[in-house]
Amino acid sequence: MAQDVLCEVKNCHYWAKGNKCTADAIYVVSHSGKEASNQEETDCQTFEPQI
Ligand code: SF4
Repeated sequence: MAQDVLCEVKNCHYWAKGNKCTADAIYVVSHSGKEASNQEETDCQTFEPQI
């Protein structure tokens, strides 16, 4: 479990009450190659929609 990852994406399979992420690890990617200019250019690739 990722102890210190907080996340607002409530419809993710790994999301838990208190904005906790329960994934063992997460993978964050940039929209623009290997670099990002601001936080809006980054996304969690580990996201899985709740079924
Ligand atoms: S896997 Fe990513 S999107 Fe899902 S709860 Fe964790 S940080 Fe949020």
